Amino acid sequence: MLKLDFHPAGRHFLQIPGPSPVPDRILRAMSYPTIDHRGPEFGALGLQVLAGIKKIFKTEQPVVIYPASGTGAWEAALTNTLSPGDTVLMYETGHFATLWKKMAEALGLKPEFLGLPGIEGWRRGVQADVIEERLRKDTQHVIKAVCVVHNETSTGVTSNIAAVRKAIDAAGHPALLLVDTISGLASADYRHDEWGVDVTVSGSQKGLMLPPGISFNAVSKKAIAASKSAKLPRAFWDWADIIEMNASGYWPYTPNTNLLYGLSEALDMILGEGLDNVFARHQRLGEACRKAVVAWGLEVQCADPAVYSPVLTGVMTPVGFDADAIRKVIYENFDMSLGTGLGKMKGRMFRIGHLGEANDLTLMATLSGCEMGLKLAGVPLAGSGVLAAMEHLSTKKNRSLLKVA
Ligand SMILES: *Cc1c(COP(=O)(O)O)cnc(C)c1O
Repeated sequence: MLKLDFHPAGRHFLQIPGPSPVPDRILRAMSYPTIDHRGPEFGALGLQVLAGIKKIFKTEQPVVIYPASGTGAWEAALTNTLSPGDTVLMYETGHFATLWKKMAEALGLKPEFLGLPGIEGWRRGVQADVIEERLRKDTQHVIKAVCVVHNETSTGVTSNIAAVRKAIDAAGHPALLLVDTISGLASADYRHDEWGVDVTVSGSQKGLMLPPGISFNAVSKKAIAASKSAKLPRAFWDWADIIEMNASGYWPYTPNTNLLYGLSEALDMILGEGLDNVFARHQRLGEACRKAVVAWGLEVQCADPAVYSPVLTGVMTPVGFDADAIRKVIYENFDMSLGTGLGKMKGRMFRIGHLGEANDLTLMATLSGCEMGLKLAGVPLAGSGVLAAMEHLSTKKNRSLLKVA
């Protein structure tokens, strides 16, 4: 049994941008007994979640579910579609884009990494015109795929994927479009089919409100066609057997049964609220959070308002204040976890997650914890972010009233 010596009253505030808090409904659904993964009940569950998850990706095409973290689904996207030595165009939006690029190198691909120098690229979204320009120069079609991160969780920037699609089309280039929306799915608007994405990679522990442990590849016809000739070694990740067995609701190996119960419950919750309502709620929370940051006199990591993330907000700390030391004060005093600065932003920012099981009052509590912690850590604040956020959330025009799904 897990032993927790430290047992404070109330709930721990898990305000990192994934894993996000798992709702009680989902925890309860996951506690059903594990069943035979070759039996009739399992087949029905499999068919149900495979159909339901398509609505979240906004696709009519197959969605492959792996019993793996998001990183596994990254690998699956690359190994199913590419061959050793293939050039792939990747774009540096932050730490996760950098990790995906490292993986591409490790797999024997040749990633070309576009982006702005220093931390500038970590404050903005993907520049689709730069991608278009690079693709136009590639008259021999050496580039086989364009890989971008939709919601860059290390910074709080949500790139415009439709613009990347347009850029590829404008250049008349046949490259595949591979998109990581591990932290964007079910929180930020995402449209696999409409945006012409070939492989969308996602995971369970962010907007879907599940524990870590399952991840996804939504795949296009073009991606499936590419998989027939792709030569990177793959076995566990191979789409072919999985898609074939998924037709009857089963997997070629033992899937993560209890997480699939959780997924079924999460689908009920998200589709019950209605995807548009879910997106509007995240937008509202993001806006209120940024109002707070500005009122504190601190800087939002994302420097382009057109690509502010509705999932999380990156907060840059003033020179001389280590963001991780502030996080520690907040954790120890208020039992709240905030996201650390990753890679280039280590110590220079913290991240406030406002995704999944999040509402106006969880955000207000989160911001209160931040404000009290910033004060305790001695950070000079221009004003009260809590009051600014309350003002924003209690203004009628900023309320998106619940619509019937
Ligand atoms: C969380 C995350 C990942 C990594 O997923 P894991 O489940 O930790 O393997 C990759 N990309 C993005 C954008 C993420 O938010």
